[in-house]
Amino acid sequence: AKTEARGSFRFFEPEMDGRLQARRIFEQDLREAVAGKAFEAHYQPIYCLREDRICGFEALLRWNHPVRGRVSPAEFIPLAEELGLIIPLGEWVLARACEEASRWPDGLKVAVNVSAVQFTSASLVSAVREALRSTGLPGRRLELEITESVLVANPGATTAILHSLKALGVRVSMDDFGTGYSSLSYLRSFPFDKIKIDQSFVRDLCETDGTEFIVRAVIGLGANLGMTTTAEGVETEAQLAKLRAEGCDEVQGYLVSRPVPASELPTLIARWNGEERA
Ligand code: C2E
Ligand code: CA
Ligand code: CA
Ligand code: CA
Repeated sequence: AKTEARGSFRFFEPEMDGRLQARRIFEQDLREAVAGKAFEAHYQPIYCLREDRICGFEALLRWNHPVRGRVSPAEFIPLAEELGLIIPLGEWVLARACEEASRWPDGLKVAVNVSAVQFTSASLVSAVREALRSTGLPGRRLELEITESVLVANPGATTAILHSLKALGVRVSMDDFGTGYSSLSYLRSFPFDKIKIDQSFVRDLCETDGTEFIVRAVIGLGANLGMTTTAEGVETEAQLAKLRAEGCDEVQGYLVSRPVPASELPTLIARWNGEERA
């Protein structure tokens, strides 16, 4: 058995080596990118159905890797968390997004994603306070998006942080709602301002599989708890019509616009909101 194990070890060695090395290089690239701030924030409109206008934008990180090209945040965010880089990266995007938003018309908010590790870190509230102070952005124009994993990891700390953020006027949204475990009890225990209905539900909204009843229930739940409901990943007119009919407050998705670089925002705002100017 011993010789067999040694044999297979030798057999896999070059490939394992190659993969480990590729990963080490990728990790090193990410460290350098964070240190050199080699990222960009793109912005996707959040569209208010009642007012029929864009009411804000979600900041989404983009990394242009020198060799691999555009790397998806779904790929590098988990690695950044693992390597302890998510806090500097998260603070960078927070400051960048607040700076950008401070130049928009006053009626437009900015939403920033905050990973679980960053949310419960000791520096989150002071980073938010500093981002608002240095850019002059009023707290009421900032929304932070967190997922359920925050609550699972550290429910006690989360409550205290949510209240400190509220004291700054900052709103907090529950992102990817419906994809985790104990969503309902969390809604009862934590003072969220907004529920973002995950795009997997929106995708199946026009199927005859009961999804529309779930979406209807979530919208009703939000309304009764005094929370705004936002549907993510809206791509078709049919989905939009259903969401409007169900009383959903806001939509976000390719139907309105893909995430765009900051430079394209004035055109986007002028096209959708008419008289408002960036
Ligand atoms: P998310 O927060 O749920 O963001 C929504 C994702 O859906 C974005 O992907 C967006 O581009 C995509 N999307 C928007 N509309 C549509 C649509 O109509 N159809 C489809 N198929 N997709 C749509 P993206 O930008 O690749 O980001 C992926 C995830 O990476 C985000 O999911 C978020 O969890 C994470 N992420 C992105 N930026 C940040 C950041 O600054 N900080 C942290 N912690 N996470 C981030
Ligand atoms: Ca989000
Ligand atoms: Ca989401
Ligand atoms: Ca997501």
